[in-house]
Amino acid sequence: RAKADGRSTFRFFEPGMDARLQARRALELDLRKALVNQEFELYYQPLLNVATRRVTGFEALLRWPHPERGMIPPDAFIPVAEEIGLIVPIGEWVLRQACAEAAGWPEMIKIAVNLSPVQFKNKRLVETVVEVLQETGLDPARLELEITESVLLHGSAGNVAVLQELKDLGIRISMDDFGTGYSSLSYLQKFPFDKLKIDQSFVRELSDRPEAMAIIRAVTGLGRSLQMLTTAEGVETPEQLERLSREGCTEVQGYLFSEPRPASELARLLACGTQPFERLAKAR
Ligand code: C2E
Ligand code: MG
Ligand code: MG
Ligand code: MG
Repeated sequence: RAKADGRSTFRFFEPGMDARLQARRALELDLRKALVNQEFELYYQPLLNVATRRVTGFEALLRWPHPERGMIPPDAFIPVAEEIGLIVPIGEWVLRQACAEAAGWPEMIKIAVNLSPVQFKNKRLVETVVEVLQETGLDPARLELEITESVLLHGSAGNVAVLQELKDLGIRISMDDFGTGYSSLSYLQKFPFDKLKIDQSFVRELSDRPEAMAIIRAVTGLGRSLQMLTTAEGVETPEQLERLSREGCTEVQGYLFSEPRPASELARLLACGTQPFERLAKAR
């Protein structure tokens, strides 16, 4: 494969270079090509309000249908894109694409977009978000940006200021994968998040471990006291939904309702969005 790419790539594949490093270099090159060739795609997964039982929004999830290797999951290429800085232009593409798509949805439906901590190192982040909102005409109140705790790690005063600037634009900020990082609770004092997304590992263990239930209970309670919505990720069974609902979790997301689907199937999901969510599962 290296040979087929011509002489210019020869220097990346010196003899004796270890196989893992070669694969990694190939992935880097493919990622750069993917951005230029617009190979990336967004899938969308519905978020549902537990009380009203309706779709409230969709999370945009990045997909890479690799021309030779098939679909590569985000966990396999986003860390690499972060390391080589390519996540900045990729993230900008995701935001623009997701907002443009959402601008055509019914007004009450929100769009959630994941932001990499690396995007915060880019001075133009806020400017880019403002630009995209203007271009697409999307109401900032319909945009939710999902960040992970690492954005608030050591020396992150600048990041908190950026988050505040985004919030001042009317955008909502969610903490993703809540409960999986270090000292999560201290971060809740650093910034007034609009939403806590409870990591799917806790939801998965709901039926097996009483501790998981206690943690869910604590987090939903925390959310209520701090006026933050709580979304449970990875809801796969009616039992999990029932327990989460009983604990006052405000929103759910998971395969029980729908897997992430390509934009071409959104019309169908949106048509279900005005109906109770049991119907969503049936419409699959
Ligand atoms: P995340 O933001 O926590 O997204 C939720 C992940 O859980 C998604 O995986 C989704 O497909 C999966 N999921 C949802 N419901 C269920 C369920 O019921 N069961 C199971 N087993 N999984 C479920 P996905 O799409 O593979 O994305 C993985 C991660 O990659 C995301 O986690 C996010 O951290 C990152 N990611 C995805 N798209 C983007 C993006 O555009 N930008 C950035 N920076 N990161 C992204
Ligand atoms: Mg997310
Ligand atoms: Mg998550
Ligand atoms: Mg995650």
